[in-house]
Amino acid sequence: MKIIAIGRNYAAHIEELNNERPDEPVVFMKPETAVIKKGAPFYHPEYSKDIHHEVELILKINKEGKYIQKEFAHTYFDEIGLGIDFTARDLQKKCKEKGLPWEIAKAFNGSAPVGDFLPASQFGDFGDINFHLDVNGQTRQKGNTSLLLFDFATILAYVSQFFMLKKGDLIFTGTPSGVGKVSIGDHLEGYLEGKKVLNVEVK
Ligand code: MG
Repeated sequence: MKIIAIGRNYAAHIEELNNERPDEPVVFMKPETAVIKKGAPFYHPEYSKDIHHEVELILKINKEGKYIQKEFAHTYFDEIGLGIDFTARDLQKKCKEKGLPWEIAKAFNGSAPVGDFLPASQFGDFGDINFHLDVNGQTRQKGNTSLLLFDFATILAYVSQFFMLKKGDLIFTGTPSGVGKVSIGDHLEGYLEGKKVLNVEVK
C-alpha cells in the first residue's frame, strides 16, 4: 500500500505557514513504513527538534483506479478515518529553502499514525465533516471539509492521473490550522464527528 497526501488544502493552514495558495493540489507520498497502527506509540526521532502534528481526514481506497472521473470518485473509497501527518518542520524548512524534495521531513518511519475508520456511508455530506485533535486534553486543531480548497472528488481525480490507486491505499486530505510541535510525553487524541478514533502517545 501507499499513502498519498495533500498539502496546503486549508486556507488558514496555508496562512499560518506563510505558504502560497496552490492552483492545483500539492501532492506527496509516504511509504508503508510510515504507518503506525491504531494505538501504537510514536517514537520521537532524534534528527528533528521540531516535529509537528497535522491531523487529517483519510480516505481508504477500496478498488483499483486511474484517471478517475470526479462524478465516480465516491465509489473508490468506502471508509473515512483520521490520522496524523507528522512533519519534521525544521528539516522541511531546510529542504524548501534549497528547493529540494521534502521526503525526509514527511515520509520518515512512524510519520503516519492511523486510527479507526468509519463507513463512508455513515456520512451524509462529504462537504460537511467535522474533526478535531486534542493534545493533552486541549483542542489544538479543528477542521470541517467545507473549508477544503480541493474536495475529495477533485483530489482523487487529480492524483489518479499520476498514480494508480489500489485497494488499501490511504489518501491524507490535508490539515486545518493549529499545527504545532509535539514533545515526548504528549498525548494526541483525534475525533471524527465527535467520536474518538485516534489515540497516539509520543515517546
Ligand atoms: Mg499534512
